[in-house]
Amino acid sequence: MPTPRIALAGFMLESNGHSPVATKAEFEALGYFGGNALAEDLAKAAPRNSATMTGFVEGMNGGRDWTMVPIVSAYGGASGPVDQTFFEEIVEKLATGLKAAMPLDGVFISLHGAATATGDFDPDATVLRTVRGIVGPDTPILATLDLHANVSQAMVDLADVMSSYLTNPHVDMRERGIECAAIMRAMLGGMRPKSAFVKLPLIPPSVTQNTKSGPYADIIKYGQSKLDHEILNVSICSGFSLGDTPKNGMSITVAARTSAERARAVAIDIAKTCWADRQRYVPRMTSIEDATAMAVAAGKDPKKPSLLFADVADNPGGGGRGNTAWILEAFHKAGAEGVLLGIFNDPALADEAHAKGKGATFTARFNRDETDQFSKPFAAEATVEALHDGNAVGRRGVVQGRQLHYGKTALLKVGGIKVVVISIRQQCCDPIAFEMFGLDIAKARSVIVKSRGHFRAGFDEFFTDDRIIEVDVPGLTTPVLSRVPYRNVPRPIFPLDPDVSWTPPA
Ligand SMILES: [Zn+2]
Repeated sequence: MPTPRIALAGFMLESNGHSPVATKAEFEALGYFGGNALAEDLAKAAPRNSATMTGFVEGMNGGRDWTMVPIVSAYGGASGPVDQTFFEEIVEKLATGLKAAMPLDGVFISLHGAATATGDFDPDATVLRTVRGIVGPDTPILATLDLHANVSQAMVDLADVMSSYLTNPHVDMRERGIECAAIMRAMLGGMRPKSAFVKLPLIPPSVTQNTKSGPYADIIKYGQSKLDHEILNVSICSGFSLGDTPKNGMSITVAARTSAERARAVAIDIAKTCWADRQRYVPRMTSIEDATAMAVAAGKDPKKPSLLFADVADNPGGGGRGNTAWILEAFHKAGAEGVLLGIFNDPALADEAHAKGKGATFTARFNRDETDQFSKPFAAEATVEALHDGNAVGRRGVVQGRQLHYGKTALLKVGGIKVVVISIRQQCCDPIAFEMFGLDIAKARSVIVKSRGHFRAGFDEFFTDDRIIEVDVPGLTTPVLSRVPYRNVPRPIFPLDPDVSWTPPA
C-alpha cells in the first residue's frame, strides 16, 4: 500500500470586531510560513507553529508511514479583521499548494475559528471551502479549533471533524492535534463520521470561561462524559465574545462514528444543559480604585500576600493593543512599590530606551504614536534598567517550549513599577517575559499582566486564584459586554438581552 499523503495547513486569527485591521506585517512578525519553511519550523526543538500542528505530526508519526505535505501556515494571534487582500493571498497560496500536491489522502488544518476578514465574515469557512473544492467530497479534512471559535454551520458542513480545545488556558493544543491524527488514521481506514451542530444565543464574557472551575468547566466535563464507542468528539466552543459577527455565540458540535441521529441527540442534550446554566456566566471585576489600594497596601507590608492584577480589558490575546496605561498611571500616582508590569507594547519607546542605553534616565512617553481611543499618552520619569533582543523560549503554560519574539525589548523603572516594554504586540502569558531580565516574580509585591486568562497557566506557580484580581478598566477587550459597540451579532442574545429565550431544535 502506498503511504498516505496528508497535507498540513494553518490559519489562526482571533478577530476582535473593534480592533484595527490585522495586516500581513503582523502575520509575518508572528509566523507566516510557506511549504518548505513550514516543514523546517516543525522540525525545530522550539517551533513557532502551533502545538496543534506539531501534535498532529507527532500523532501521525506514531503510526505507520505517511508523507507530510506542508502547504502554508499563517498565524496572526489576536487582532482585528484580517486585511481582505492579504487573506486572499493566503487562500491563493493554499489553493496553489494543494493543487500541486494532489493526489492527497487527507488534510489537517490548524484553525482558530474566530477570524473575520475585512470582506468576509467567515474566512475559516472560506479556507475549508477552498480545501474541500480541491480535494473533493471524500477526502478527510480535519481541523483543530480554539475554544473561542465562533463556529458556523458552513464550517461544520465543510470539515469532517473539528476538534476544539477543552482547556482555557489552552494547554491541550498538542492533545487535540494528536486526537486529529487518530481520527485521520480511522478515516483512512474507512470511517466516515457524522456531525451535529447546535448554536445558542449566548456570548459568555471572556473572564467567565475558565475550565478549572465554574460553569464552563462543568459543561466541558459534561460534554466529555458523552464520549463512548459511538460518540467520537464533543466540541463546546464558548465563542469569542468580542468578535462582531452574525456567527457569534456558544456552540456545541458533536461527531459520531456512524449515527447522525445519535450525534444530534447528544448535541441537543448538551445545549439544553448549557442554556439552563447561563446565569452563571457573570464577570466579577474589581474597580481600579480598589485595585490601586490593594497594590499600595501589598507594597507597604511584605507580610501581606503578593497579588496579580490582570488587565483583562487590554488583552493582546483578544485584539487589545497591549498599551493602555490606566493601571500603570493609577498605581504610579498612588506610589505603589514593588510592582512588575508586563508586557507593554510600545515599539517607539523600546527603540528610544535602546538608543539611550542601560542606566539612562529620561522622560518615558508611552503611546506617543498610538491613536486608539483607549491608548492614551502617559509620561513619567524612567530609568532604563536593562535591554534585551526579545528572543526567548516559553517556559510554562500555553507557549511552553515555543520560540517567542517580543522584538526590541526594554525594562524601564518608573517609580515603584518595573515595566517590560516590547515591540511585537502579544499578551503576557509566560513568566519568561519578566525572567528574561533576571527578575524574580516571587519577590514582587504586585504583578500586572496584560492578558485575559492565559497567564493563569504560566503564573499559577506564583499566584493562587484568590490572589488574582481582574481589574475593570476601559479597553478593547472589556468583559463588560454592554460597553461593546456591537453591530453584527445576532440579537437577541444573552447576556446583552437578559430575557432572550431559546427553543431546542425539534
Ligand atoms: Zn482562545
